[in-house]
Amino acid sequence: MKEILFIEPVLKERIWGGTRLKEYGYDLPSDQTGECWAISAHPHGDCVIRNGTYSGCTLSSLWNNHRELFGLTGGSEFPLLIKIIDAKNDLSVQVHPDDAYAAEHENGASGKTECWYVLDCKEDAAIVIGHNAKTKEEAERLIREGRFRELIREIPVHKGDFFQIEPGVLHSIKGGTVILETQQNSDITYRVYDYDRLQNGKKRELHTEQSIAVLKCPFRPTVGKPVTYRVGAATVKHLITCPYYSVEHITLSGTALMPAGKVFQNLSVIGGEGAIDGTKIRKGDHFIVPAEYGAFELSGALEIIRSSPCELMVK
Ligand code: ZN
Repeated sequence: MKEILFIEPVLKERIWGGTRLKEYGYDLPSDQTGECWAISAHPHGDCVIRNGTYSGCTLSSLWNNHRELFGLTGGSEFPLLIKIIDAKNDLSVQVHPDDAYAAEHENGASGKTECWYVLDCKEDAAIVIGHNAKTKEEAERLIREGRFRELIREIPVHKGDFFQIEPGVLHSIKGGTVILETQQNSDITYRVYDYDRLQNGKKRELHTEQSIAVLKCPFRPTVGKPVTYRVGAATVKHLITCPYYSVEHITLSGTALMPAGKVFQNLSVIGGEGAIDGTKIRKGDHFIVPAEYGAFELSGALEIIRSSPCELMVK
C-alpha cells in the first residue's frame, strides 16, 4: 500500500516578498518572504517528506531511489516545481529559455514553462505578460535603449485568473499579488528589467543578451479552454495541458472519490479544510498522491490545485 507523501515547504526570502505566506500557516524567515517552494526536488530547495515511511527523506532522494512512487521511468530529475509566491512588490521583468536553449547554454538544464493561478490580489492589480514589439529588431532596440515602459504589455489581474507562460514570453508578477505557480523543475531566469531598483546599493544584474536571444516576437498569448466537470461533490476545472504538465482547480463541498492515476499527482490546498482518506488537510498543505495509489477520497470544504506531469516531458 503506497502512502500519501506530505511535503515540508522551503521558504525563500526575496527583496520583493512580504508576509502573506503566513496565511498558509507557514513560519516565515522574515518580513520579506517571497516564495514557498511547496513541492520541489530542485537543489536550490529540496523539500523533505514529513510523514510515514519516508519521513525525513528529500523528494530528490525518493525520485532517485523509489521511482515506483512516481510512475515515470525516464527523466533524471523530478519534473515539476510548485511554488506559492507573495509579491508584495513587483518582481523583475523576466523571460525563460526553452529546453533546447537551456540544454545548450545552461549546462544541460531544463528550460522553463510555467503557469500561474492567482490566489489573491489587491484591487486594480496588474501583471506583465508579453510585449508590444512587432519584431525581434524592435524588441532589441527598445531593450538596448532602456525603453521598457514602451516594451512591456501590462494587463489587469483578478483572483482566480490563470495564465500559461511559455518560454520566450516576457513576464512579471506585480506587487499585491499572491499566486500558485506550477512550472518545469528549473531555476533559470533571465532578468530583462528590474525597475531600476537597488539592492544593497546596487542594481541587480540584467541578462540582456540571453533575454534578447530567447525572446519570442511577436508575442502571442496562450489561450486556454478551461473545461469543468464533476466528481462526486467536487467541481474540477481543467486549466491547461501542455507538453510538461496538466493543471486543475478543484472546489469541494462534501465528498468526492477521485480516480486513480498512472502517474503521481501534486495537490496543494489553497483554501478550506477537510481530509484525504481520513487524514486531515488544510490550507497550506501540499502532498503527492503516488502513482498507482488507487482512488482517494477527498472530503470537507476544500479548494485545491492539482497537477500531474505529462509523459511527453520525460526524455
Ligand atoms: Zn518566470
